[in-house]
Order: sequence, then structure tokens, then C-alpha cells
Amino acid sequence: MAFKSLVASDSVARYVNEEMLREPDVQKRLRAETAGIPHGGMQISSDQGALLSLLVKLIGAKKAIEIGTFTGYSALCVALALPADGKLIACDISEEWTAIGRRYWREAGVAGKIDLRLAPALKTVETLLLQGGAGTFDFAFIDADKEAYDAYYEGVLKLLRPGGLIAMDNVLGSGPNSESADYDPATSKMHALNLKIRDDARVDAMIATVGAGFMLVRKR
Ligand code: CA
Repeated sequence: MAFKSLVASDSVARYVNEEMLREPDVQKRLRAETAGIPHGGMQISSDQGALLSLLVKLIGAKKAIEIGTFTGYSALCVALALPADGKLIACDISEEWTAIGRRYWREAGVAGKIDLRLAPALKTVETLLLQGGAGTFDFAFIDADKEAYDAYYEGVLKLLRPGGLIAMDNVLGSGPNSESADYDPATSKMHALNLKIRDDARVDAMIATVGAGFMLVRKR
């Protein structure tokens, strides 16, 4: 399986992602199945999944939203970390991709925690805001079409409570295949949004160079 790491050598990435992770078997199998399908490279790395799980537990998140579910690996990581009465709203437009995830969510016993919304994510966010969802979410993960990242960021920030956390993938890249060693972040489509977040008085943020680069944003 290929590793997506911006800073680590292959051997270090392998050590971090495989040898040092206590990854549940169901997660491992979902990751393996996804790696074998077209666009499988869009999947987050296992250390990114572990970080999502840890963050959810660290902030005691109960209510989470995910923008871009793909085949459900990140949703599985988040849902397994949520308490029994926790809820994850998972946003995607692909019935085909999310159907893979559903199988593993059921097997892992977390299907009841995941509310999959098959619709454009901005519509779902808009609906949640209209239903009084502003300030009620603890955690958000954004990993979808990069052109809309700024809009996702703004929408999700409204949904978060103060102290809530956003993790955003691929902030050093411009697409799913941008994780190369000679990549120049300053030329990234993400650069303008990264600068905006750096100077955004509403949040505390930093880029963790895990996997393809996570922007971690805490709402003030
Ligand atoms: Ca991604």
C-alpha cells in the first residue's frame, strides 16, 4: 500500500502507519478494499485516521460532521471514537462510494451513529444551520472538492461551538495526487485559504504535516 507522507521517508511512514498503529481489523480491511478501487488514493492515511480518532476523544466530541465521506474510512475512525450516544453527519454525493463504507460501519457496530446525507455538502450545512445547528457541533472533518474549501470552512465554522475543532485534509496540495516530495505549498490552490486561516481572529490553527497535511483549527 502506498503511503502519503509529506515529510517522512517510506520506511518512517511505514513504521508510523503500520507498525506503530493499533488499527482495528475492520478499519484495516476497509482501507485495503479502498486502496484497490479507482480513486483509492483519495483515502486518508491510517495515521491521519488515528489522529482524527484521538482528537475526537481528546475534546470529548459528541456531535460531528464530515464533508466528503468517500468510502467511509474517516467516518469509521470518527464514529468508533464517539461515545455511544454520539452522532456523525456524513456528507457525500456518491451512493457508490459510501455503499462501501456502510458495509464496514455496520460490521463495526457504528452505523447507528452515522447519519449519511447524500447531497451537496453545502446544501446539508445550510439545512443544518436553518434547523438551528449553529454552535452545536464539536468536531468537523473536511476532505472534499478543493474549490469549495473556503465555503466549507465558513459553513462548518458556524456549526461549531466555541472550543470545537476542524481538521481539514490536503491543505498543502491542490488535488488528491499532490503529495509529492518536491511540492511547493506556496503554489497550492489552498495557499490563499491557509493564509486566511492563519490571520483569522476567530480561530487558533496550525498545519500538522501528517499524511497529506492536516489544517487543525480550533474555534475561539
Ligand atoms: Ca484527502
